Amino acid sequence: MNRHQFLTGTIPLNLLDKFKSNELILIHMLTLACRDVGQNCDCIVQGETEEVLMKNAAEHAVKDHGYTEEDIMTPEMKDRIKSHIRKS
Ligand SMILES: [Zn+2]
Repeated sequence: MNRHQFLTGTIPLNLLDKFKSNELILIHMLTLACRDVGQNCDCIVQGETEEVLMKNAAEHAVKDHGYTEEDIMTPEMKDRIKSHIRKS
């Protein structure tokens, strides 16, 4: 076996990628507790970016709380949601 190939094989690189992606999630995952926005609900909405989180929160509110997209996407509601976003 070629010693150089062994040392730079795919296993250590895969582990490094896994480590990097985990780290990325830990650093960038944002959460929103539905209860904090005034709902009687234990859901935690997550997203890697504020944009994704807003989208997920809107989907959840429409699906589980009977809101319409228009209700959620008002500047007031957006500000309210944004003010409760936590970085995990
Ligand atoms: Zn909810």
